[in-house]
Amino acid sequence: MQILLECVNCSHRVPATVSRLHCESCGGLFNLAYDSPPGGKQPRSPLTDLARNVSLGEGNTPVINLTRTAKYLGLRQLWAKLEFISPTGSFKDRGSAVLISAALSEGVTEFIEDSSGNAGASLSAYAAAAGMKAHVFAPANAASGKLDQIRIFGAELHAIEGPRQAATDDAERFVNERGLPYLSHNLSPYFSEGMKALAYEVNAGPASGVRHIVLPVGNGSLLIGGKAGYDELIAAGVISESPRLHAVQSEAVQPLAAAVNGYTWDASDAAPTVASGIAVSFPPRLKQSVAAVKESGGTALTVSDDAALEWQRRLARDEGIFCEATSAAAFAGLEKLIASGTIHPDETVLMPITGSGLKEPVQS
Ligand SMILES: [Zn+2]
Repeated sequence: MQILLECVNCSHRVPATVSRLHCESCGGLFNLAYDSPPGGKQPRSPLTDLARNVSLGEGNTPVINLTRTAKYLGLRQLWAKLEFISPTGSFKDRGSAVLISAALSEGVTEFIEDSSGNAGASLSAYAAAAGMKAHVFAPANAASGKLDQIRIFGAELHAIEGPRQAATDDAERFVNERGLPYLSHNLSPYFSEGMKALAYEVNAGPASGVRHIVLPVGNGSLLIGGKAGYDELIAAGVISESPRLHAVQSEAVQPLAAAVNGYTWDASDAAPTVASGIAVSFPPRLKQSVAAVKESGGTALTVSDDAALEWQRRLARDEGIFCEATSAAAFAGLEKLIASGTIHPDETVLMPITGSGLKEPVQS
């Protein structure tokens, strides 16, 4: 099987490698492209050197019923997929496993990454397991639990003052200075490729045939990768349509909600938010996120910090689930989608609970 990088703008194709992030014809980002049709049993994967696959036991997260929350919202059936039960406490481990395995098979021994926290923690863990040195650029004010993870996994933490973008800018400067591979989880197609498995798992489990999935979206790796997984299942003839994918953003940072709903949002209006995992003013794959929402028949909407924090407390109190505020924001979105009639009480819903609450201080 041949695996290629295909430009999302101009469809220019080059052989797949983790170190190439931009199309030389137009500067666009890449998707992975395969010359074989999907089989429908498991996602097509860019990993061919099985001896070099790095795994910490990611994926196959539990799906449970949220009966109290369903009752509170008036829903017939509400599923949660417990993504925070992952090796480093977030769904990012799915992407890290694929990206780091591919990097190891290409002989990478040292790399650079920037992150608001969870992805940096995750890539640091997989780098440790692969015997690689990671340089992780993160905002100095990121949650202390996430920065502790990056440090204890042996990565070199570059804590950068200023907004999230400053960490990206400094990482890019360091890449130019040191000439090391830039394994940006926001830019690399290998990272979101790891998310496709979520669609396969949902489809094979108790929530098979679910009508709506509501998820928090910043850079969009779970949205884009999840949609790609459903597209493969459709192409393989396993299912006939994707669940509707609803993207929830913070009122403080809402480029995707603006793009989907056709209004203007200026990044200079970005404000601090408790939903730090989705506080991304310039998501590099915005167009793909818009397409994933629209093609699935989904919507994009925003929620307040107060609503996210209220749902964080409610899930802990009613369900015994302690998630981060970013994950709870999706439930605030679900409540709005039911109130607006977008989700009917008789329709089934699945919520990926993306990150653990244990990494950040609880805000009230
Ligand atoms: Zn191109």
